[in-house]
Amino acid sequence: MNRPKDSIETQNSLLTTDQLLFIERENLCPLCNGEVKIRIRSYLENFTIAEEAECEKCNLVIRTKDHRMN
Ligand SMILES: [Zn+2]
Repeated sequence: MNRPKDSIETQNSLLTTDQLLFIERENLCPLCNGEVKIRIRSYLENFTIAEEAECEKCNLVIRTKDHRMN
C-alpha cells in the first residue's frame, strides 16, 4: 500500500482491454505519424510495468512509461 503519489493516474492501468486500446489510440509515431505498437512488460520482481511504443515502419522505439505497481 505504499503507492507514490505520482503514480495515481496509472494505478488502475494494469492491462485491461480498454486501457490498451486507449493507449494505442493515443500513441502516434512522431516521424511518420502512424500508429505505433504498444508493448507492456511487467517486472513482477520489483512491481514495475514498462510500456514501450514501437513504430515498425521507422524502426523507432519510444519508451513511454514505467509504472510502479502498488
Ligand atoms: Zn513511424
